[in-house]
Amino acid sequence: MAVIERLLAPESSFQTRFFFLAKRFVPGETIASALDAVRLLNADGLTGTLDFLGEDVTNVEDATRTRDTYLDMLAQIEREAIRTNVSVKLTALGLLVDEALCVSYLEQILDRASHLPDPFVRIDMEGSSVTDATLRVFENVFSRHRNVGPVVQAYLKRSPADVERAIELHARVRLCKGAYAEPATIAIADMPSIRKAYLRMAEALLGRGTYPGIATHDPRIIDAVKAYARQQGIGKDRFEFQLLYGVRPELQRSLARDGYNVRVYVPFGTHWAGYFYRRLTERKENVFFVLRSLVAR
Ligand SMILES: Cc1cc2nc3c(=O)[nH]c(=O)nc-3n(C[C@H](O)[C@H](O)[C@H](O)COP(=O)(O)OP(=O)(O)OC[C@H]3O[C@@H](n4cnc5c(N)ncnc54)[C@H](O)[C@@H]3O)c2cc1C
Repeated sequence: MAVIERLLAPESSFQTRFFFLAKRFVPGETIASALDAVRLLNADGLTGTLDFLGEDVTNVEDATRTRDTYLDMLAQIEREAIRTNVSVKLTALGLLVDEALCVSYLEQILDRASHLPDPFVRIDMEGSSVTDATLRVFENVFSRHRNVGPVVQAYLKRSPADVERAIELHARVRLCKGAYAEPATIAIADMPSIRKAYLRMAEALLGRGTYPGIATHDPRIIDAVKAYARQQGIGKDRFEFQLLYGVRPELQRSLARDGYNVRVYVPFGTHWAGYFYRRLTERKENVFFVLRSLVAR
């Protein structure tokens, strides 16, 4: 275990040498590289949401570094007039170190973002050990800042209630399937049932929610959402599709060409190993892509 941790440490030469494998999903390690990627997306009519990779920080210094990176990123987005907002993981802002500090850092980010043309800040959802704390922090700051919204994971059995609460608050929700390994006591395990749960919550958010983000690459869900919106007379301006950088880029562009709002999640930074690992374990297509880039070298 210690060996793996050393290999995956951001400063290790293993990580540096193997970054080319992650490059399909993580455009770079710096703010500048992420902004370059969003500029290209903007040129094709897509918007972005930038995420500084890193999670589970265990000390105040790392949480402060995350806060400073977001403040710097927001200043650069404003200066360069790039069409993107930001996504943040609360454990990277010190949630596990000191919840009050995490709230104060998040509020500083929300204050800075409020001066931008797109002031919205998305709070990513992490593993179930922090679901309650993440939603607690969200509701705490939402009472003072409206430019923030949570993520709901369709695989969690609790999620229909979380969706209803967000609808009641008029909060903007990103709905995704969920990317963490969770026990069967709290999470639905089979894909058809996750898809069914996803669609039920998507319909609730489309019908009664506030500008939901439909985050998926799943063609069955995307087609069902398009059909539902059409049948119910819900305009294309009332929601957005969200997809991950490097995943089904041709679909991202074809949705935008069809007039849908499309936002691409663009992660960057040196802590790319955990994110990269989640992409590999959720889809064989992603593994094939990485194997092809190894063979091509
Ligand atoms: C914008 C965005 C933000 C997210 N934020 C969070 C978050 O905050 N918390 C969290 O837990 N999770 C998050 N996720 C991850 C999410 O929970 C899923 O793990 C991830 O999106 C995979 O589920 P899926 O619905 O996209 O499709 P999957 O279940 O992976 O795939 C469904 C179908 O989509 C197609 N497909 C998918 N990927 C590919 C590919 N690479 N090539 C070709 N076809 C493909 C295939 O037809 C496949 O059968 C986010 C996802 C997105 C898109």
